[in-house]
Amino acid sequence: MSELTSTTALRATMDAYYRSLADAALRKTAPVAWCTSVGPAELLRALGFAVHFPENHAAIMGAARTANRYLPLAHAQGYSQDICSYLTSDIGAYLAGESPLEAYGLERAPAPDVLVFNTNQCRDVRDWFEWYGRELGVPVLGLHSPRAIDDVTESDIDAVTMQLEALVAPLEQVAGTRLDDARLRAAMRASRDTAGLWGACLETASARPAPLTFFDGSVHMGPAVVLRGSDDAPAYYRTLLAELEQRVENRVGAVPAETLRLYWDGMPVWGRLRALSTMFAEFRTAVVASTYCNSWAFSGLDPAEPWRSVARALLELFIARSEAPKERYIARMVEFYDVDGVIFHDCRTCSNNSNTRYGMPGRITERLGIPTLVLDGDVNDLRCFSDEQARTNIEGFVEQLTDARAATSARGSR
Ligand code: SF4
Repeated sequence: MSELTSTTALRATMDAYYRSLADAALRKTAPVAWCTSVGPAELLRALGFAVHFPENHAAIMGAARTANRYLPLAHAQGYSQDICSYLTSDIGAYLAGESPLEAYGLERAPAPDVLVFNTNQCRDVRDWFEWYGRELGVPVLGLHSPRAIDDVTESDIDAVTMQLEALVAPLEQVAGTRLDDARLRAAMRASRDTAGLWGACLETASARPAPLTFFDGSVHMGPAVVLRGSDDAPAYYRTLLAELEQRVENRVGAVPAETLRLYWDGMPVWGRLRALSTMFAEFRTAVVASTYCNSWAFSGLDPAEPWRSVARALLELFIARSEAPKERYIARMVEFYDVDGVIFHDCRTCSNNSNTRYGMPGRITERLGIPTLVLDGDVNDLRCFSDEQARTNIEGFVEQLTDARAATSARGSR
């Protein structure tokens, strides 16, 4: 398993982003807005905010395996062990007076001037931001988006468009500037290009062997999440895409001797990303695609129609949809990436991004004739993840898929 050489450019891109955030917070070079990961980032950038994403902050703690240190501090405030462990690790770190961005001179997450959420993904983000709003006395604004949507309708888009437009005046007041149309269009162009290039990077994994896995994607998606609306993100994805295309041309796989291919639905287990990546590689199995990484490959962003196209993109997100469109989406992914099976991560503290609890794995197996595995775990709380159990379950699943493949080829050679 060789690391992508673009990782150096990724580190430089993320480093520059965190430095600019620290400059904004410490040297007041720009007002600071916090935004949920699928919130209205383009609008915030166009207004000149430095944008901090608490979910990214929490994911860094998850990946560094420091999150569990902070969880009890938030639990002690009455925030349940059963709710989002991103929320509880982030608030816990604040209460501990610590931040993984300490290397950038930030003792805590950069102090916000405004907090902007979007409930398209879950209610937890609102509760999360409202905690900080009370704690810091900072305005909390939000989009109250419908959830469990079947087909996105024009009236859904109207409702979110009106809410987006209503954010402008209070945000202008905090930013101390008027929204400039040219800046909004530029932010939209950057986001559209980022989404397209990121989507193209992910689609290279339809090749055999796949040049990147879900585990690589979970790391390389950083700029697509935190740099929406900035030209730094497309610049990075041009570099990554060129490397991936070269890998495809040279038939270089992310997993040596790739044999089986899987799709991953649900959140990553940040504290076990590398361990799982190594384990799957050991089984010559490439997890080639995921709902999670695909979620930032927004389609339809249009600089000529910023409000409605953003509203549509935020409504069309997988996480905001009902079971039927989610199942249709997974069916398309299974076909496009030509996978042998699907892993559903049942993320203990995120019911919003766990598609295991209302029968979907069984329906996918029945509908597509493809095996599925439900893997218990969590995005940040490692008490919910057992290495032994995960290995046993994954090993058994790989054996099942290998046997199924052998039986198919035996039938084919008769
Ligand atoms: S979608 Fe899940 S992991 Fe993300 S913020 Fe909401 S509850 Fe937390």
